[in-house]
Amino acid sequence: MAINGSTKLYGILGHPVGHSLSPVMHNAALAAMGINGVYIPMDVTDIRAAVSGLRALGFIGVSVTIPHKEEVMGCLDEIDPVAQRIGAVNTLLFRQKPGEERVTARGFNTDWLGANLALAEKIPLTGSRVLVIGAGGAAKGVCFGLVEAGAEVVITNRTKAKGQALADWLGCSFIPSDQVGDIHADALINTTSVGMEPDVDGIAVAPALLDNFSVVMDIVYAPLTTRLLREAEKAGCQTIDGLSMLLFQAAVQLKIWTGEKPPQDVMRRALVEELRRRKAS
Ligand code: NAP
Repeated sequence: MAINGSTKLYGILGHPVGHSLSPVMHNAALAAMGINGVYIPMDVTDIRAAVSGLRALGFIGVSVTIPHKEEVMGCLDEIDPVAQRIGAVNTLLFRQKPGEERVTARGFNTDWLGANLALAEKIPLTGSRVLVIGAGGAAKGVCFGLVEAGAEVVITNRTKAKGQALADWLGCSFIPSDQVGDIHADALINTTSVGMEPDVDGIAVAPALLDNFSVVMDIVYAPLTTRLLREAEKAGCQTIDGLSMLLFQAAVQLKIWTGEKPPQDVMRRALVEELRRRKAS
């Protein structure tokens, strides 16, 4: 679609942001939806100045990524109550209310919904038991979402203090890494970077333990099929790759910005092609 005076503006704010997969996914979706819009990566360090600039430039919405998800909250007019509870915003929507001069910026968090929607394709979340490995930034959203959906969450993490702190915040339990063998659950989710390129032989849990779980999900998406997922398939588990979470959280963003249901098959294809292209180059 040709860029012209009616082109709607979207993008992602982060630092760094060059590696982000969001532009290929969102631009493919906008094109398939027939929206005259463009989604651009913007490497910014001054988040306050950036939000002010986007407001003035007439942007419709942007994604916000590391390291700005917390600081951006101080630059907004309204924050969705769930994002407020998580303490992080990854989506902005700019709106000019009828009769008002000022453009308001509202913040949302869609990170927590990505993992929920991905896992919910395989099992009902309410009442299910899920072991989450890791306690970093991604784990925070994943665990929050699961607790919100009524799942029983058990957290394990290499650094005990971080894992325990996350468990305490959410009111769920923590187990040290050497006790993972005692856990049987409906699902296991790896939220650590173990298994991510170049550490492709890495695995966050001993393969012999995988038949303690019905579903195994990895949020690492490079490579797409991690060693964890390969071993889980061998053990007869259902598997979910890291693109699902990325895709679902982005689909919720697009729904917020456009009000329409985005074409998830198109978005996934664009992601897979981009990963293939990056691997080949
Ligand atoms: P982070 O905040 O740095 O957290 C990293 C986590 O991995 C921590 O729990 C850390 O444990 C653990 N870890 C790292 N190396 C480890 C090792 N060798 N052995 C055991 N545990 C180890 O990172 P993040 O932002 O949460 O991202 C984690 C991964 O998720 C990355 O691969 C990222 O690409 C991926 N991700 C995917 C999506 C998606 O949509 N699919 C979204 C966000 C992130 P300690 O606390 O002990 O350091």
